[in-house]
Amino acid sequence: MSNLAQLAPDYIRAIAPYQGGKPIAELAREMGLNEADIIKLASNENPLGISPKAQMAIDEAVHTIARYPDGNSFELRKAVSEKFGVAHNQIVFGNGSNDILELVARAFLHVGCEAIYSQHAFAVYPLVTQAVGAAGVVVTAKNYCHDLDGFLKAITPKTRLIFIANPNNPTGTLIAKDGLKAFLKQIPAHILVVLDEAYDEYLSLAHQSEAIGWLSEFDNLIISRTFSKAYGLAGLRIGFGLMQADVADVLNRVRQPFNVNSIAQAAAIASLADDDFVARSYAANQAGMVQLTQGFKQLGLEYIPSFANFVSFKVANAAQVNQQLLKNGVIVRPIANYEMPEYLRVSIGLFSENARFLEVLEKILSE
Ligand SMILES: *Cc1c(COP(=O)(O)O)cnc(C)c1O
Repeated sequence: MSNLAQLAPDYIRAIAPYQGGKPIAELAREMGLNEADIIKLASNENPLGISPKAQMAIDEAVHTIARYPDGNSFELRKAVSEKFGVAHNQIVFGNGSNDILELVARAFLHVGCEAIYSQHAFAVYPLVTQAVGAAGVVVTAKNYCHDLDGFLKAITPKTRLIFIANPNNPTGTLIAKDGLKAFLKQIPAHILVVLDEAYDEYLSLAHQSEAIGWLSEFDNLIISRTFSKAYGLAGLRIGFGLMQADVADVLNRVRQPFNVNSIAQAAAIASLADDDFVARSYAANQAGMVQLTQGFKQLGLEYIPSFANFVSFKVANAAQVNQQLLKNGVIVRPIANYEMPEYLRVSIGLFSENARFLEVLEKILSE
């Protein structure tokens, strides 16, 4: 051992690595299973795949990869600007929306500052906070929901940033719009609020976010969106943030010049033009959510009602049940690292995948 790791600052060495969903190929290797016999419901991916229009755009863009991508994502910027009604200079593109979260932390946090986020909130908030040596302040959740009053009480002179996931992952809980807006009004102007809306496309019209319309009212608001979930482009890594132009300018200074590859840009443009694919994805998710939650009820299992494309359910010996599911070729997500050791999170899959998951789960629970 070189002991070189000791040269990294303590706050870096204290970071717990991100635990993603187990890849299908890895489980196949570990259990000696065929990849074709494995279903993965562990990373909130779109079971319908991607838009056929995006697929065509990808096939074309593949021929351009000898060139660097457009570092300003001009065409995509135009498409996002038109679709969401924001100015070109209010948009920052990221290598996944995780990149946006990290850019915000790198630009606005440093040693001695605090970032606030909820218990059971998305694991990337503590990661990006700790990576720059800032302190994470965790607000105890209320019934697995963000406790916004708790956030207000947690604000100190050191607070620079607040992360809110709406809906939240892994709980699937949603903060109502009026409560969220009232909360924003109470946040001091010098504290940035990142509103992570990765699952907005899975919300019913009545619940869908209106936060983009709030940007003119709250200079400190940053909204992050992703192409990884309803648009199905998780493997291409592309997301974006919407914010005031001066905040966007700062993020662009710390952004890698070519952080979004050309295939991702082309696929994102085509995806934005295919409302039909998003509508089909939404409908499939609604049906799958009913299928899974009815299954849980039949099995007598508690679950947290979810507004997203996954649901967390409670089960005795969650770690053991997870192992049994893996042995049977079903990958879900254990969430003990989210302080939810009695829960497993399952992503909504195709009808047949949901059915197989419920069947295997029933068998395990009856053994
Ligand atoms: C999946 C997810 C994202 C998306 O991450 P990408 O980097 O865009 O793939 C962002 N926020 C939350 C809360 C998520 O669950």
